[in-house]
Amino acid sequence: MSVVSYFTLSLYISALINLSSGYIFILAFHLNAKKRFEMARIIAVVNLNLYLIVMNYMEGLRAGEYLLYFPYFLVMTLVIDVKKNFTELKFVYLITIISVLICLNVSPFENYYQVRIAGMFARLYNSNLAISLTLTTFFSYFIFRVNRDNEEAILKEKHFVDTIYNTSLDGVLIMDAEYRTIIGCNNRACELLQIRNKTEIEGTPIEHWFTSEHINLFKSIEMKLASHQARDWQGELALTSNEKTFFAFVNMVPFLDNNRRFLKISILDLSEIKTAQFELMKAKQKAEEASQAKSRFLSNMSHELRTPLNGIIGTSNLLLQEEYLADQKSHLDILKYSSEHMMMLINEILDFNKIEVGKLQLGQEPVDLKKFLEKISLQFGAQAHAKNIGFKTDIDDNLDIEVLTDETRLNQVFSNLLSNAIKFTHYGEIVVVARKIFSTSQKATIQFMVKDTGIGIPANKQQEIFESFTQADVNTTRKYGGTGLGLAITKKLVSLFHGELQLESEEGRGSTFHFTLKLSISENRKRYINEDKVKHLCMFPGVKVMVAEDNAINMSIARRFLTKWGIEVKEAYNGKQAVELFGQNKFDLVLIDLEMPEMDGITALGEIKKINPAVPAIAFTAAVYDDMRADLLRKGFMEFVPKPFRPEDLHNKISILLAANSPA
Ligand code: ADP
Repeated sequence: MSVVSYFTLSLYISALINLSSGYIFILAFHLNAKKRFEMARIIAVVNLNLYLIVMNYMEGLRAGEYLLYFPYFLVMTLVIDVKKNFTELKFVYLITIISVLICLNVSPFENYYQVRIAGMFARLYNSNLAISLTLTTFFSYFIFRVNRDNEEAILKEKHFVDTIYNTSLDGVLIMDAEYRTIIGCNNRACELLQIRNKTEIEGTPIEHWFTSEHINLFKSIEMKLASHQARDWQGELALTSNEKTFFAFVNMVPFLDNNRRFLKISILDLSEIKTAQFELMKAKQKAEEASQAKSRFLSNMSHELRTPLNGIIGTSNLLLQEEYLADQKSHLDILKYSSEHMMMLINEILDFNKIEVGKLQLGQEPVDLKKFLEKISLQFGAQAHAKNIGFKTDIDDNLDIEVLTDETRLNQVFSNLLSNAIKFTHYGEIVVVARKIFSTSQKATIQFMVKDTGIGIPANKQQEIFESFTQADVNTTRKYGGTGLGLAITKKLVSLFHGELQLESEEGRGSTFHFTLKLSISENRKRYINEDKVKHLCMFPGVKVMVAEDNAINMSIARRFLTKWGIEVKEAYNGKQAVELFGQNKFDLVLIDLEMPEMDGITALGEIKKINPAVPAIAFTAAVYDDMRADLLRKGFMEFVPKPFRPEDLHNKISILLAANSPA
């Protein structure tokens, strides 16, 4: 429009300036569309300023071209985002003010350079004024619209945040940290504190809302938060309102707003949880009391039953020894069998009860494990043979040790397992296995097993049968008798020994019950060697052996045997002494304990081998572990003798090593 009007007035230069400026604006639009915003803005601003300076100069100030600066200032605020680019806006303002100043100073009042037409300035002025007013109105309205939209968006956002705040299940109180008063709260807080209107809480001191005991705690937390010792706090506090007190899980977080400190206090009501906890505690107490009453009853009853039962058993025994009619024998046998069976049941119940209330404690007496297992096997072997089933033992040779344990209770474990095995096996065999898995001089880890080839236990019953009064099959009682208490007791007994009774079984093929115990080895050194077994063994005349062993008793036993076999013995009581002694003498063989003070056996052997690499060495050790032989061979030993040693074993190994080492 301007270009056309300039042509009608024959203002061709102005029309040309308008056109070029228009083209440059199109370029700026293009750059804007290509997302090169900054370049587009620079071009637009420079273009507009240059346009206004040149136009004002070419037409003279009287033409009123400078009036376009008004809408231009408005456009700037619109185009440049005040919040994000305030510096840029200031910069553009500065350029524009400079351009206004240049324009006003440089431009003449009237310029007839292009044409001289009467009334030209008035027409130009009027049209510029009209354009300026239209653009100013348009941009003002536009700015007003943008502001209104922004405000609406802000209100919507606030409404959204308020909804979240007020629908939260946590009550929220906002406290002014300086004045210690509540400045706001959400709806849930009003509900919890039983307030109808938020104004009832706003402005009140925080002390109003916590119990007197907890307000002190609250203050100390506040101090910690204020001194930045903690970033937030969480815990239980008691709140109070309208004389009602309730426990809440409270969460406190400080925050800054406009340089003022606030505290956000979130409250989660715990009343229901607390009530449930209280009810649970009461129920637990009741259950414990009931269980104690049951235990007391069981224990009293079984004691009471035992007295008359002893009478019945005694009398039936007496009757069986006295004269009776032939057809009374079967009755007396039933009487004897039934009363004894009943006594066994009562004993089981009593035991079970004792274990349940934790009254059963294990004794610690020295037990010869091998003898113990042999004794048990003898007893149950006879029962198995009577039923025409095989009975075998598979006991580790190394089990010739004495351990500290409770023989009676261990016996009870085996008796239960073996009587079950015999009861539920109809053909095949029963095997008792005992294996030393690992040992040191103080402890031995032993695995025990009772295997049978009986009816087996279905997989879905394998857990259940360890529970009290449970049997694998509902017909068991009728077919085999029993109470279903035996395994429950056995499992508990094994756990008293710090073991775990485990089962592997396949229905129709048999069952294996096994458990592993770590038992203390008895210090009783009499068991260190089984002298009964020492037979007359051949002599080694002229052979010289060094024994390195820190324990005096072990040393004396070793010495006794070695000298008995005609060996000359030199003694070292630690690794260092052994190395020194070896350096001073010539030995045919060395016997070295692995665990010694100052220098252990393996290091000592390393040193000894530096002096004489060919000397045969036997390790003397209380430890037993997997691949021990291979491990010791790698470390330079040729043999090992486990402690407590069997003399024949030691003799045998010495003679093999001496024969191998002697010149042919
Ligand atoms: P009881 O033998 O007095 O019934 P237990 O607690 O000793 O009670 O055993 C529970 C159940 O476990 C037995 O009734 C039987 O079904 C099953 N059971 C136990 N040992 C064996 C076994 N060696 N072979 C097969 N079933 C067994």
